[in-house]
Amino acid sequence: MHETSIVNSIMRTLELEFEVEKMARLKGIYVKVGILSNIEPRLLHNAYDAFQMTNPGYTDAELHIESTELKIQCELCNHETKVKNYRFICENCGSPSKNVIQGEEMLIHKVEFND
Ligand SMILES: [Zn+2]
Repeated sequence: MHETSIVNSIMRTLELEFEVEKMARLKGIYVKVGILSNIEPRLLHNAYDAFQMTNPGYTDAELHIESTELKIQCELCNHETKVKNYRFICENCGSPSKNVIQGEEMLIHKVEFND
């Protein structure tokens, strides 16, 4: 399952970033998932639940997933547009644009630890 490897890579990233004793106090992981990232938040939660069952040290660490909307930036006028219904058109000048600046990524934007 695609989401299982994503959970594994999130956890590996955190384990590289933080000391073992700090990871033992991990409380919350906040990730942003772009709607074009091919990641299904529900499946990501399921994969994380499965991860917690095999890694009891992380039972108290909660995964928070926020979906980010799709945004393009116009090459002509630099205006940023929220894409609706997959219409990749600048709302300012009407030019078509494929310059996606948000919505394709998956990123860890916050990590919380217990004191
Ligand atoms: Zn424009």
